[in-house]
Amino acid sequence: MLVTLREPEYLPVLEQYAEDASFASFVSLLGEILRRGDHAIHSTPRLLDRFSKWPTLSRDQSVALHQTARNVVVGTLPYGTVTDSLVLTGPGTPVPDPEDGPRWHRRPWTWLHRRGRLDATVLAGENLSDACFYRWLGRAWAARSHSDDALWVNIELSLSCRGLGGDTARQEVPEIARNDDPVLCILDSDRNHPAAELGPTARAVSSEMDRLSTDHLTRVEPLPARDIENILPLALVEEVMVPGDPKLRDTIARGFFARPRADPDLAYIDLGKDQCERRLLDTRDEATREYRVRALAKIRQGDPSILSPADCPRLQNDQPPCGPESKWSPAPECIVVHSIGKKLPRKIVAALDDPSRRGYPHHTAMWLASMLPADDDAAALSHLAHLAWSWGLRSRPLPRL
Ligand SMILES: [Zn+2]
Repeated sequence: MLVTLREPEYLPVLEQYAEDASFASFVSLLGEILRRGDHAIHSTPRLLDRFSKWPTLSRDQSVALHQTARNVVVGTLPYGTVTDSLVLTGPGTPVPDPEDGPRWHRRPWTWLHRRGRLDATVLAGENLSDACFYRWLGRAWAARSHSDDALWVNIELSLSCRGLGGDTARQEVPEIARNDDPVLCILDSDRNHPAAELGPTARAVSSEMDRLSTDHLTRVEPLPARDIENILPLALVEEVMVPGDPKLRDTIARGFFARPRADPDLAYIDLGKDQCERRLLDTRDEATREYRVRALAKIRQGDPSILSPADCPRLQNDQPPCGPESKWSPAPECIVVHSIGKKLPRKIVAALDDPSRRGYPHHTAMWLASMLPADDDAAALSHLAHLAWSWGLRSRPLPRL
């Protein structure tokens, strides 16, 4: 992520810290973060240059800081456009953070000194393949924002992916935050409609994160959709789809997936189980029911071949019709929402990772970038891509000297 140092909080008091061992190790840590390429640092060239001459630095750390000072001048990092930034408060008089722009995570410089390190950001999802998909979105954002700058070709964000394993979130989150801070968590919302309460996983993770001390650098972001399946780009689904797959063919015809936006009227429909109309509308929650009635109209508009409950083929055979009480899964002609299974995100990540498809990862990132809604940061895919990019942003690691 982007580490911000505000010059007036440091420069006027640097002389007083010239002999300070804690401060010297803090400056070394900054140099080390840059040398390893775990994060990016933004400050003024003047301050970075002063730091690069700190007598206790290793040569590598000094070069990394000096190079960053130079990069700030030529502007190779799009500093102004991150969603989040860590601000390390200096020993001088604090400068207030601007109110607009990124979410500022403020910690004193002694925080970094006490920790002794700041590892690359962990990107956590419901499971590993979800997290890897969000990392690809981050790369797509990088490819799009840096495409006119040759320096950014083949950029890798520094994000290590982890799966929270659904129910284990309560144990996993404090563990991840303790060991691998900072953490960006992108989770299925499991909401039944846009204004509904968060599902159990997202709620558990949010409350665990809240219980962590302010020592930890975390952000929990529930999907602006029900599940990851709701926002998968249509072109990606088509890429991995077995030709003629009836479930996916129907799901596409009925308007699901992002093209490039996910239809808000369908984004909170559960694609995890086969549902007929009666099953879909079997809810006591009025807002959920209203939402699903609207979704149902959209789905039927996209695919008029779905039978209405009155025409259920089971009735013709004197059987109990499909419905919430039915012992069987719905008759194929009655299914309005197919279960497309958890395998789809996994197949998509495998396709993105497969070099035989598009060659260099950068080409894959460019291709994925073409699926992000242009100039619409509010769309689910762009929002997640922007977040992943911001938290993974790093300057290039330095080759060992
Ligand atoms: Zn039926």
